[in-house]
Amino acid sequence: MRLVLLGAPGSGKGTQAEFLKAEYGCAHISTGDILRRNLKDGTALGLEARAFMDRGELAPDDVVVGMVRERLRGGGGEKGFLMDGFPRTLPQAEALGKILEELSLPLDAALLLRVDEELIVHRLTHRRSCRSCGKIWNLLAMPSGAEGEKTPCPECGGELYRRDDDAESVIRNRLLVYHEQTAPLVEWYEKRGKLRIVDAVGSPKEIFTKIGAVLG
Ligand code: AMP
Repeated sequence: MRLVLLGAPGSGKGTQAEFLKAEYGCAHISTGDILRRNLKDGTALGLEARAFMDRGELAPDDVVVGMVRERLRGGGGEKGFLMDGFPRTLPQAEALGKILEELSLPLDAALLLRVDEELIVHRLTHRRSCRSCGKIWNLLAMPSGAEGEKTPCPECGGELYRRDDDAESVIRNRLLVYHEQTAPLVEWYEKRGKLRIVDAVGSPKEIFTKIGAVLG
């Protein structure tokens, strides 16, 4: 399974990537996760990306393309992969096409998770991630609900935190950036016969079932 996951921030790419990874055993390649790890470790790459991430803007194409090239050339794609948050611009899509051609790993599909914008803002302002296991949660879907701000991770007991870029003002900017720079990729993949669309509304499990139906 070699997939690109397309969709606005908060459309559920990370959550569905985890389900798909468990089902098909392929690599989950999230450029956002790689950048956040670099930020936490204080690397030069992390420092370079920080200002862009804080503003909800995109890191430079050559930086993210370099990260993905390194990951795939290092043998990260043989068992299949799920690209989560990459590509996000037309030059990135072109670059990914070239890398995959070089490695003889043709893409099976670009899967668009389609969600209404207001639902996205609602989802993201309540999104929390676990500092220990990295699992993504939504306060509204947890037993303690929105009150449970300090609830530990139901999976491992770790501390849940809100990503800095999930503040509402930054979310609005990320959506703007998505419409301007990433949404054109939908047509790009459609023209190449790779686009599949899923209505990403419902519980994560329901959405995963719809994805199974779309991918056959
Ligand atoms: P994400 O976790 O995918 O929402 O990414 C978080 C932030 O990392 C984005 O808002 C960007 O600043 C940066 N980022 C992640 N992936 C890319 C990419 N493919 N191109 C440029 N910037 C990216």
